Amino acid sequence: MRKKSALKTEDLVWSTIGHEFQKLVLEKSLKSGRLPHAWIFSGSRNVGKTSLALDFAKILLCNSFERSRPCGDCNNCRSVKGGHPDMIVVDQEGEITVDQIRRLQRQFVLKSFMANAKVAVISSAENLNQEAANAFLKLLEEPTSKTHFILTTSNLDRILPTVLSRCQKLFFGLSGASDFARFSTAHVEGRDSAMQGAVAMSYGRLGLLRRLMIHPEFAEQWIASLALLRQLLSCDLSEKLKISQELAGREGEEIDLVLFSWLLAAETRLLASQSNAEAVREGERAKAVWEAAEHLRLNLNTRLVFDNLVLQI
Ligand SMILES: [Zn+2]
Repeated sequence: MRKKSALKTEDLVWSTIGHEFQKLVLEKSLKSGRLPHAWIFSGSRNVGKTSLALDFAKILLCNSFERSRPCGDCNNCRSVKGGHPDMIVVDQEGEITVDQIRRLQRQFVLKSFMANAKVAVISSAENLNQEAANAFLKLLEEPTSKTHFILTTSNLDRILPTVLSRCQKLFFGLSGASDFARFSTAHVEGRDSAMQGAVAMSYGRLGLLRRLMIHPEFAEQWIASLALLRQLLSCDLSEKLKISQELAGREGEEIDLVLFSWLLAAETRLLASQSNAEAVREGERAKAVWEAAEHLRLNLNTRLVFDNLVLQI
């Protein structure tokens, strides 16, 4: 049997489109036989970090050394589809609690059920609360050669430095035009014009594009949120305050989606800015949206938070 260290790069199969540099780093690391125990994939939201983390987890679990990995055919690959006992995925909105990490810890001390390895993917690791982050640190401090952790985050600053120092960092940027075209060709053909518009509004974030494809209702809300942002950018003060009033009356989940879409729009314009002045302006807008989300999380008065936000946009 060939060892993992002898794996050829062309043996690996990725279902995530794009991020070729990151794939190459992961492949080389596997091939070298010096695979870091823990990775942290960082970068803007919805660019495909978790998608690539799940791809890599499947590669690590697959038992096939003679064919492409993941082969899709071995016991492990077949089991991944229905929930593999050696693959733990934490991918949720909101806080990650210490109970979740303890559960993960219990699963990791057991002998591997089926595969040679155990893999944990923790998406949005900035959501680990303090207690959970400390418990997770203990797991990282006692590594075994058969356990792998892949964290993803859009906010490295909120990761415990002691956790960060034990992870190999891999940065993810926006997808290039060619990746975007490949994804669109594969998934968008035949969609109506509203969906085509949503594709244009996913800003090169393939993770977001995937979500827009799968959930048409989400796509409609996304389009409406961005239309509202365009209106805000061009209207007068009294109209801005009317929009604030309307937004403040919405449900929490709808508000989250609006702020998320505005944040991505600002971040995208920031990345594309052509001058320092433009970059500063877009950076301030992104910061204002981010602060509004934080203030709402702290239960500050919704109307006041939105009044403040619409005046800064
Ligand atoms: Zn397999």
